Amino acid sequence: MEIEFIEESENRIVFTVKDAPVALVNSIRRAMMSHVPTMAVDHINVYMNTSYLYDEILAHRIGLIPLKTNVDKFNFPDKCECGGEGCPNCQVSLRLNAEGPRTIYSGDFVSDDPETRPVYDNIPVVVLYEGQQLMIEAVARLGTGKEHAKWRPVSVCAYKIIPEIKIDEKCNSCGECVEACPRNVLELAEGKVSVKDVLKCSMCMECVNVCDEGAISVEETNDFLFTVESIGPMPAKEILRRSIEVLMNKAEEMNKILEHI
Ligand SMILES: [Zn+2]
Repeated sequence: MEIEFIEESENRIVFTVKDAPVALVNSIRRAMMSHVPTMAVDHINVYMNTSYLYDEILAHRIGLIPLKTNVDKFNFPDKCECGGEGCPNCQVSLRLNAEGPRTIYSGDFVSDDPETRPVYDNIPVVVLYEGQQLMIEAVARLGTGKEHAKWRPVSVCAYKIIPEIKIDEKCNSCGECVEACPRNVLELAEGKVSVKDVLKCSMCMECVNVCDEGAISVEETNDFLFTVESIGPMPAKEILRRSIEVLMNKAEEMNKILEHI
């Protein structure tokens, strides 16, 4: 198995995985979506809410605000020494005390932990009108996407097969396949059809269907193109690294179980 990065920025990575079983590639995808821990608000304590939104709607909106944190500093509540009651090792409070008229944004929350804060400060939460008040404590804790989508660190996490496109000697270079391809995968240069950018191919088979000679074929391989976009709690590459750690730990656990059988 071989991984090669094609595109790399803080929040987006595109890479190829070559010669890998599809089950393993899918495990990485699922681990990234469902098993990489992040921080999100899990419940709110409402001391005052005279805004137009119900407490429940506020709680839902605040829960979906992506939070940045030092994940390694915190325990999962069920694995914490406090026994899940809540302590500084497993939860962080973000406080808000505001009066209208004004719009409340994610950045208005004051966190007890300077490392735990909203990824973006400009997410609107609620509009307070003249005389309306909001006094709440939002309690964040670690969780995973398996539990609820608000803990999912990725907005895009998908792969596709990189096919093998073969052009036979039968090809009469009519160029119809080049025209038919909606993604500009093929090109006709010096009277010969060739593959320009195989990574763009979505295996729509338009080129195969349009070729009367049957000279072109598109076949599945064990190579994949992976795209991952982070919603901000950690860089996309770290999500990938942590997902592989999760899989390794699971494999180790499995090994231990097998030893006892
Ligand atoms: Zn605790």
